[in-house]
Amino acid sequence: MVSTFPSSPKANCCRRVAGNAQKTAGILALQGDFEAHLKAIDRAGGHAIEVRTVADLEQCDGLIIPGGESTTMLKLLDQEGLTEALKRFAGHKPVYGSCAGAILLAREVTNPAQVSLGLMDITVERNAYGRQVDSRIAHIPMPEGGDLEAVFIRAPIIRRLGAGSTVLAAYNGDPVWVEQGRNMVTTFHPELTGDVRVHRRFLGKL
Ligand code: GLN
Repeated sequence: MVSTFPSSPKANCCRRVAGNAQKTAGILALQGDFEAHLKAIDRAGGHAIEVRTVADLEQCDGLIIPGGESTTMLKLLDQEGLTEALKRFAGHKPVYGSCAGAILLAREVTNPAQVSLGLMDITVERNAYGRQVDSRIAHIPMPEGGDLEAVFIRAPIIRRLGAGSTVLAAYNGDPVWVEQGRNMVTTFHPELTGDVRVHRRFLGKL
């Protein structure tokens, strides 16, 4: 079953973050905008390290896969021997993917089809809003109040949600922030705005 807009991520963020002060969020740093995620975790009150090797990954309580180019990231993951390590990691620790990261987490990828880590039972269509010029900033009204500023850059659209998905934000009727089990994706880039709601929610999972 797919539910929409559950309890506010804001409501319990502070207690959770404070209670997990020693936890380490890994940011996959092979390609893409990993530095912005590092800063966003800092703004959200967490501790983050860059992940380039299996040894780096082993120090983490959760992982963020940033935006960038999913095909390039897949190649680099293979080269670093991180693909299988990451799948094992995801067997018991939370992974959050933004944009290209969301594409890597999806079980099924279209436009064109490509392999992925398959950590969430969703289908995503790559570059679904059109070409680079169609990148945009949207203001999404949130149930707990206020707008969520969402930056879309050659973003995918989530075309199918598997069982147990929770839609935390939607734009033009499409889910853009989805949680499934311990994992989470956004098709936008929260790390590029001052809004730390997404990163706080991730820290709450560690
Ligand atoms: N279009 C990119 C891809 O398909 C994702 C873009 C992004 O991460 N901003 O991998």
